[in-house]
Amino acid sequence: YLAKGAGKNQVYFPGVASKRSVYMLSPAELTNAIANDELELFFQPIMSIHSGTILKAEALVRWNHPRLGRLSPDHFIPLAEKNGIIGRLGNWVERQALCQLERWTTLFGEDFQLAINKSALELIDPEYGACQLEQQLLCRKLSGKNLVIEITEHSMLEYSEATQNELGKYRALGVQIALDDFGTGYSSLMHLKHYPVDYLKIDRSFVSSLNQSNIDYRLCKGTTHLAKLLNVQVVAEGVETQAQHDLLKPLGCDFIQGYFISKPVSAIEFEHMAYRHNHT
Ligand code: C2E
Ligand code: CA
Ligand code: CA
Ligand code: CA
Repeated sequence: YLAKGAGKNQVYFPGVASKRSVYMLSPAELTNAIANDELELFFQPIMSIHSGTILKAEALVRWNHPRLGRLSPDHFIPLAEKNGIIGRLGNWVERQALCQLERWTTLFGEDFQLAINKSALELIDPEYGACQLEQQLLCRKLSGKNLVIEITEHSMLEYSEATQNELGKYRALGVQIALDDFGTGYSSLMHLKHYPVDYLKIDRSFVSSLNQSNIDYRLCKGTTHLAKLLNVQVVAEGVETQAQHDLLKPLGCDFIQGYFISKPVSAIEFEHMAYRHNHT
């Protein structure tokens, strides 16, 4: 059992005598978990709002902890970032993602795209980066255009030339860039100005009360309009209802993602779902 908001790397789990105990995850444990394949990628479909097809997915990492069960990334990504493990974790995610892409570009066609998450910290890790990825793409004879890198806004505080350069290198490989949680960071417009951006993901907090809140509706409308002006495609995150879908469509939103389509699922479940969805 996981208590949300438990904070940092503390996980609550049922202890003896029905008392809940707190478990502190350690960096060493996480390092081992990466080596021992305790991590697993889940996939959430991203649907084109116009064609209705599912030709994109976002990979979301999970930790199948031997004692605590399946842990969400909020429990261990901050731990990885603080302890210099995020590069290694990100590299594991990248390899797994490419492995899936090999299979899914064959199954779903050359337009299929898989998005992975990276924090800005990962981008400037000298050991892992665009060069590493280039090698892996070559090995697997994959094109970078099937990969999207999502960067969360709050992990990028200010404009940084190093970040811009690294993003440029990914872009040169054909990889596309998405600004994640758009509108929640400190300098959203600065990011749009300086970084090569292909997709903008409207944060769930603006989408969740779309049908009750006039300000959220207008923010979504304005953001979509801005994106169009800059030739950037828009993904709405956290779409849970038909009503939200129906409001987003006329705004010119390109893609939707959220429980309305599906929660994140295992690779094999995603494959079946997307195949069924695109072929019926
Ligand atoms: P995110 O990139 O914003 O991912 C979306 C989160 O919202 C996911 O949580 C997803 O399960 C959840 N979600 C999707 N649709 C809905 C919906 O309709 N309603 C609600 N209430 N929630 C929805 P998750 O999987 O727990 O991931 C949390 C965060 O962890 C991600 O937020 C991302 O920032 C980070 N993360 C995940 N995988 C990785 C990774 O491989 N590397 C890094 N650096 N960060 C990761
Ligand atoms: Ca994301
Ligand atoms: Ca997001
Ligand atoms: Ca988020």
